[in-house]
Amino acid sequence: MKALVLVDIQNDFIPGGAIAVKDGDAVVPLANKLQEKFDFIVATQDWHPADHASFAKNHKGKSIGDVIELGGLQQVLWPAHCVQETEGAKFHAGLDCSKIKKVFPKGTDSQIDSYSGFYDNGHRKSTGLAEFLRNNKMSQVFICGLATDYCVKFTALDSLTEGFETFVVEDVCRGVELKPGDVENALKELQEKGCSLINSQTILNT
Ligand SMILES: [Zn+2]
Repeated sequence: MKALVLVDIQNDFIPGGAIAVKDGDAVVPLANKLQEKFDFIVATQDWHPADHASFAKNHKGKSIGDVIELGGLQQVLWPAHCVQETEGAKFHAGLDCSKIKKVFPKGTDSQIDSYSGFYDNGHRKSTGLAEFLRNNKMSQVFICGLATDYCVKFTALDSLTEGFETFVVEDVCRGVELKPGDVENALKELQEKGCSLINSQTILNT
């Protein structure tokens, strides 16, 4: 059985938001259309406390884009984003949320970031997504959303590690591209690790 995972389709990742992903709003109508083909849909939601250690403003003398060491891991510093209960953390108003079975918040621990919808970046805590998919007999996981080179990528990598047949719906994702080529490299790495790239039209035509 197949599940659709909507990754971080939140205001702060859409143009006008704190980490505006270029053309990020383009995924909203596509994700809505795609949902017609799935009976099992879940979403991830970046959901940070205000003192989250991934925010540059929480480190004196550091700037956005700097890389620090955080709990033994390399951490990129971001603008403050997706702070719990704020407008920026909400799903885009145009996203159809009526079929979402469960929302998996991530990045809730101030001391560790979480790009993947399955685990934090240190693989210390599970969000429960893998168990939820398995308990509901899901074997194929289709992933779309924001951003290709971070949260989509790491969600897909963990999905593979968890043993799910994993697809990234390429045209229903957009990337941050801190460095040019990041999206292309992310997609290449995913394919090398066994992830399939698929176009939404192919799914809609089946
Ligand atoms: Zn975040």
